[in-house]
Amino acid sequence: MAEINRAVKGTNDILPNNVHKWQFVESKMLDTARLFGFSEIRVPVFEHTEVFKRSVGDTTDVVQKEMYTFDDKGGRSITLRPELTAGVIRSVLENGLTNGPLPLKVCYVGGCYRYEKPQAGRLREFHQFGVECIGAAEPNADAELISLAKQVLNNIGIQRIALEINSIGCPECRKNYQQALKDYFKANLDSLCDTCKDRLERNPMRILDCKSPVCKDICKNAPVVIDYLCEECENHFSAVKKHLDAAGIEYTINPHIVRGLDYYTRTVFEFVSGDIGAQSTVCGGGRYDGLISQMGGKPTPSLGFAMGIERLMMVLESQNAVLPTAAMPDLYIASMSENASLKATALCHKLREDGFSVQTDISARGLKAQMKFANKIGAKYSMVLGDQELDDNKARLKNMQSGEENEINLDNLSDALLSALNQEALNTLTDTISKEQLF
Ligand code: ATP
Ligand code: MG
Repeated sequence: MAEINRAVKGTNDILPNNVHKWQFVESKMLDTARLFGFSEIRVPVFEHTEVFKRSVGDTTDVVQKEMYTFDDKGGRSITLRPELTAGVIRSVLENGLTNGPLPLKVCYVGGCYRYEKPQAGRLREFHQFGVECIGAAEPNADAELISLAKQVLNNIGIQRIALEINSIGCPECRKNYQQALKDYFKANLDSLCDTCKDRLERNPMRILDCKSPVCKDICKNAPVVIDYLCEECENHFSAVKKHLDAAGIEYTINPHIVRGLDYYTRTVFEFVSGDIGAQSTVCGGGRYDGLISQMGGKPTPSLGFAMGIERLMMVLESQNAVLPTAAMPDLYIASMSENASLKATALCHKLREDGFSVQTDISARGLKAQMKFANKIGAKYSMVLGDQELDDNKARLKNMQSGEENEINLDNLSDALLSALNQEALNTLTDTISKEQLF
């Protein structure tokens, strides 16, 4: 039973000493999305398999090879979500949200599950932040979505990041393109990997997303979809670019982006980092005008993107980004007797009600060990309660950094702690300002 001590391969724990970074990043994501009118939606971690596997002809790696699918005890085929878009659309349709004002803008943060070969930046459980904008056909919707992704990346402190865009057209203009691709790949048939040989008839565009080095090499000279766009798709794409230019958002056109899921149409885009090795795409998205009707809704032009939070964390780390530090306790109350411990309980209860982060001894330690603990957890202030302090109703509030102590009345502890913390914050601020002036 060695497994009892080991996380499942490809999964990570987010530990208490790291979680504040995740909280910071996730709250920036949701706050930024809110500025663009997106509200959070929370959907189940698992769905009926059909939500993700919509057609038997689906040729994507995600659906064909990577899904965690099992039968539950009722004999239903269940799949852990490999992404959130399909589940979100299922929920939107089931709850009639498209009957309300459109466009409907929703965003999410959550875990995704894919049976992939674990490596740096590729996990079996990972987390995505994503958004879906439902019921918007115009090219400025595409630009707005990209602008949101860009601002999210900026707001969490990502420095160097490249935006690559492409258009993969609509099913109509893709017909000619698929034929051109088939002709091209047929000429290279023998060198393609077995999976791609199979893809050739069913969906040759998927070959363009193959990770095998040989197929990748063959793809370099393959015809590009952008040369096969119909007039409407062409116009749509040039308008997207105009809107991006208007917002001053830099991009390059990468005609090789096709994205890993089958439902995309027209605009597709990725944000790519040069700082984290092979798994370099931190955000992928685009338009999926056909998905909602595929899922049983009225045709509704829509678009979205998803970011891999683990990969973003890797970028932040490799760029030495300054993230907020974990919040430390405001006060540690040490106690030296049974009565002092009772008083500590009462004071802690009151202080926490007032919004302070306070800890006291709950392990029956001696004073020395209590103070050592206060130090270890980084308490900003400490206070020792003994029988004398209880008699006087007074104690000394100690600044753990400077060692400075001030006598306070226990009835005024909240006020005294608040003004001490404020003074401390002010000192840090003036310190930073005067340091900045030095340089
Ligand atoms: P890739 O080409 O790297 O496999 P993908 O096209 O499968 O990515 P999407 O389905 O578009 O990725 O998911 C959006 C984002 O989620 C990706 O850009 C990436 O940042 C992240 N992501 C996808 N799969 C994983 C994974 N297995 N582990 C960690 N992050 C992932
Ligand atoms: Mg993938």
